[in-house]
Amino acid sequence: MRSLKSRLISFYIALGIFIALFITLILFLTFLPNIQIWITSLLTLLTLAFGIFATIMFFNYNSQKNVNKDLIEENKYNLHRESVFYNYNTFVSKISSNWEKVNSQDGYVIAFSCLRNNGSLNNSADRASELNGVVSDYICDLFAENKPDYKDYIYCYNRGTFIISAICNENRLNSLIAEIESNIYRIAKENDFRLYIQPYFGVYARKAYDTRQIHEMIACASLSREIAERNFETIVMFNNSMLENKAKEEIEEISNAIDRQEFVVYYQAKYCLTTKRFNSSEALVRWNSPEHGLVSPMKFIDKAENGGLIHKIDMFVFEQVCKDLNESKRKGRRLLPVSVNFSLYEFYGQNFIDDIINTMEKYNIPPSLIQLEITEGTTGVNTFLSIAIIKKIREYGIKVLMDDFGVGYSNFNNLKNMPFDAIKIDKSFIDNIVEDEKSRQIVKFMIEFIKETGMEAIAEGVDNQNQVDILKRFRLDTIQGFFYSRPIPYNEYEALLANNNFEKKGLKI
Ligand code: C2E
Ligand code: CA
Ligand code: CA
Repeated sequence: MRSLKSRLISFYIALGIFIALFITLILFLTFLPNIQIWITSLLTLLTLAFGIFATIMFFNYNSQKNVNKDLIEENKYNLHRESVFYNYNTFVSKISSNWEKVNSQDGYVIAFSCLRNNGSLNNSADRASELNGVVSDYICDLFAENKPDYKDYIYCYNRGTFIISAICNENRLNSLIAEIESNIYRIAKENDFRLYIQPYFGVYARKAYDTRQIHEMIACASLSREIAERNFETIVMFNNSMLENKAKEEIEEISNAIDRQEFVVYYQAKYCLTTKRFNSSEALVRWNSPEHGLVSPMKFIDKAENGGLIHKIDMFVFEQVCKDLNESKRKGRRLLPVSVNFSLYEFYGQNFIDDIINTMEKYNIPPSLIQLEITEGTTGVNTFLSIAIIKKIREYGIKVLMDDFGVGYSNFNNLKNMPFDAIKIDKSFIDNIVEDEKSRQIVKFMIEFIKETGMEAIAEGVDNQNQVDILKRFRLDTIQGFFYSRPIPYNEYEALLANNNFEKKGLKI
């Protein structure tokens, strides 16, 4: 603001001077018609005007410079000191350019934190972040750019952990860690943070021409730091077995959860825009863990797939759905079809169809109450096989839905050949249809295409009225989203079907 004002003032002053000079010139011309006097006066006036103008510009420039200086000072003061630290991306790109030059030398990625992560930090979070701020200052000083000894050291602060890349030998690494460790204790003592300080270091030794990507090395160093903390060891060097062990531990945890029957099934209703009634639902698994609480499938489905446990989980979900439907039937409640997710890996399993049919028979569930959702990825792997399996499933009267349409491998061409009953347009397309004309046009085109091909068009992740209005205009068939219902336990889902505002007559939804 100040700089704009001062610029305006100088502009007006210069303009005033020019007007004054101009009037004076006219007066001269009128009263002194002699040409020589006229030229001399004109030159004098011009020199004068330029002199004044230059003086004004000079002061203006200086005041501008002061403003900039003030701003920089102010920013320096306001910015949190952590921002002086490199951010993660800069860190990674700086490491790569550093290592390119010295590919054959020893190098290390060190991850460390000053406090135990699993302690209860809730009451001392401010003090912990203040401590990390002071330690950041210390690291900045330690690796200051004018220190030639440390020119190959780069640092960043990422997710509560300091990460350092060092090109040095093992002796130097050990003395560096010892130095940082003693300084963390010193800093904590001097500042009286009253926190339980306990630095742990995880170290990844980068070999010459290492094939691991930098972010993998950082992850390895962080994992070693975690293990150091767990085992109360100050320094832990990474080794490959740690990765296997970690994956093993996670798989074991999921496997135990299956045995202990900790998985539960939630239901999310789908609403048909033409009949203005709920027409089905999707079964979504959750892990009700005594240790972690209700865990989202996003956190464990991938791991279960990699560990070969997904079939167990999916069959558990499928059986639970059959049980729930059977129970509703017994109680004479309203029955709607339920769609169940299946993953790529089990789809080609030999007994897949038999397992499904047997379970349905066990609970006396007609095929009209069951739908299968498979993702595009599943069908992309082997189109011929997919077509054959889907056809076989449909011969039993079970509907097959393509999940997450639009992301991944699918294209409109192979959609035409796949014998699906319905296509679910992925949430990512729906997210922007209110604000973004392009997304709207894409979704409109998708709906038209799906319907022309004789399939039901379903939109996922619809959570507001504006989206509903647009999709209705595009003649979409069915909506699944938080707007109508979140995924809920079966008893709540039953209650929703028995009584809700969306299906009441006369209500415009
Ligand atoms: P999905 O099959 O695409 O399931 C839909 C997901 O979108 C669900 O997340 C649901 O809660 C969420 N969703 C629905 N409407 C809205 C909305 O309006 N707004 C927002 N923000 N989200 C909405 P959820 O339950 O976390 O499931 C995530 C994914 O986990 C599923 O995506 C599916 O790929 C997988 N999954 C869930 N249950 C199973 C299962 O039993 N077996 C297998 N193999 N995968 C499962
Ligand atoms: Ca799904
Ligand atoms: Ca989906």
